[in-house]
Amino acid sequence: MMRDCPKCGSSQIEEGYQLDKGHGETHVGAFIRGKPDKRWYGYKVAKQDRLEITQYRCKRCGYLENYAK
Ligand SMILES: [Zn+2]
Repeated sequence: MMRDCPKCGSSQIEEGYQLDKGHGETHVGAFIRGKPDKRWYGYKVAKQDRLEITQYRCKRCGYLENYAK
């Protein structure tokens, strides 16, 4: 995880996440393995291929780093 900002060297890092908005639903933003598989109902995503993204933000310069686990 990000401890010091690689851009400005600050150690003031806060954890967060990004919201994805869909059709009346909100999700934590995710990384999806592989290529997009578009179907008539939307994108087909296998559960095991979806990894929620955690973000770390530098409070000094605003740099964001993403981790998908
Ligand atoms: Zn920074």
